Amino acid sequence: MIRAMQAIQKTLPEFGIELREVPEPPAPAPGEVLIEVTAAGICGSDLHIYEWTPGYEFVKPAMPVTLGHEFAGRVAAVGQGVSDLALGDRVTVMPSVTCGSCAACQARDFDRCLTRTGIGMTRPGAFARRVLAPAINCLRLPAGVDDELAALTEPLTVGARAVESGEIKPGDRVLVMGPGTVGQTIAVMARAAGAEVTIVGKDDADRLTCLRALGFDRLHDLNDTSLAEVTGATKFDVVFEATGVPATINHGLGVLRRWGILVVCGIHAAPAPVDLNRLNREQLQIRGSNRASRATWSRVVDLLAAEGDKLRPMITHRLPLARAVEGFELARLKTASKVMLLPNA
Ligand SMILES: [Zn+2]
Ligand SMILES: [Zn+2]
Repeated sequence: MIRAMQAIQKTLPEFGIELREVPEPPAPAPGEVLIEVTAAGICGSDLHIYEWTPGYEFVKPAMPVTLGHEFAGRVAAVGQGVSDLALGDRVTVMPSVTCGSCAACQARDFDRCLTRTGIGMTRPGAFARRVLAPAINCLRLPAGVDDELAALTEPLTVGARAVESGEIKPGDRVLVMGPGTVGQTIAVMARAAGAEVTIVGKDDADRLTCLRALGFDRLHDLNDTSLAEVTGATKFDVVFEATGVPATINHGLGVLRRWGILVVCGIHAAPAPVDLNRLNREQLQIRGSNRASRATWSRVVDLLAAEGDKLRPMITHRLPLARAVEGFELARLKTASKVMLLPNA
C-alpha cells in the first residue's frame, strides 16, 4: 500500500506554492536510494519559483513538482546494485542528476552532461518526508557534520564554485554585492581562500547582521554610503554579483581594477546593460558561475567538518514543513537568511 505524505509543491506557472498530500515515493529503482529528509533549506531559486519571476520556465513541464534541493537525511531504502550506501547512512545530495547515456556520461565526465534533471525542480524534491536520489549523487556525512549544517552544503558549493571562477588568491581584495545566502557563501569561501572580503547590501540590515555573526566586519548598507566610498582609492581585484539586479553589473565593473574579474552569480529577470568600452579598455572579464563539481562538494563537506559550527549563524529559522509558506515569506522579505524546513520534525 502506498502511503501519503505532505509535500511543498509548485503546481501552477504563477505566484505561489502549495502544501499537498502526495503519494510517498515508490521503492528505489536500481542505483537509487530512498532518503528520509531531516533538513532542507529554502533557496533563492525556490523563492524565484515561488514568485514565478522569469528564469525558471524549465520547471513548468514538471508541474506539479515537489520543491527542495538543498538537503540532508538518512538512507531509508537502497535499490539494486547500490553497494556503497547502507540503511541509516547520513547523506547530503547533489541535486543535479545526470542522464547516464550521453557521450559525456559514457565517458564518466559527468560535469559535462547536457541532459540533466534537477531534484526539487524537474523531479521530486526534498520538501517532503521522503525523496529518491541516485546513489552516485549522495555524499556520506562525517560524524561532526549534523543534518542542518549538511543541508548548507549545496549553497556553499555555489559559493565555492564562484570563488573558483574568480580565481581568488590569498590577499585579494574582494567585493561581494548582495548579502543573501549566495553572497554569504561566496564570502565564506573567499575568506577560506585567503581573501579580504567586503560585502555590500541595500536595505539589508538583517542579512548584514547575519554576516557579522559569521565573523565579517567590512559590511556596508548602500542606503548609508556609496559604492565609491566603500571602494576608496584602491579598486577590487574580484567582484562577485549576487543580487540578481541587472544594474549591479555596471556598478561592479566600475569598482573593479584593471584586468579584474567580475563573477555573475545572481539570477536576473532581465538583461543587463554593460559598459563595453570600460570592459575593453581596462581588460576586464565577466564570468558566469553556477554548478560545482563533485570534487568541490567533497571539499565543502570537509570545510563543514572542520568549522561548520562557525557557519551555523547562516541558519536563522527552523520550521516544520506545514509552516513552509511562512518560511518562504520570511526569506522573501529578507528578514531571514537561511530557512531550514524539517520535514520529519
Ligand atoms: Zn540552492
Ligand atoms: Zn549525460
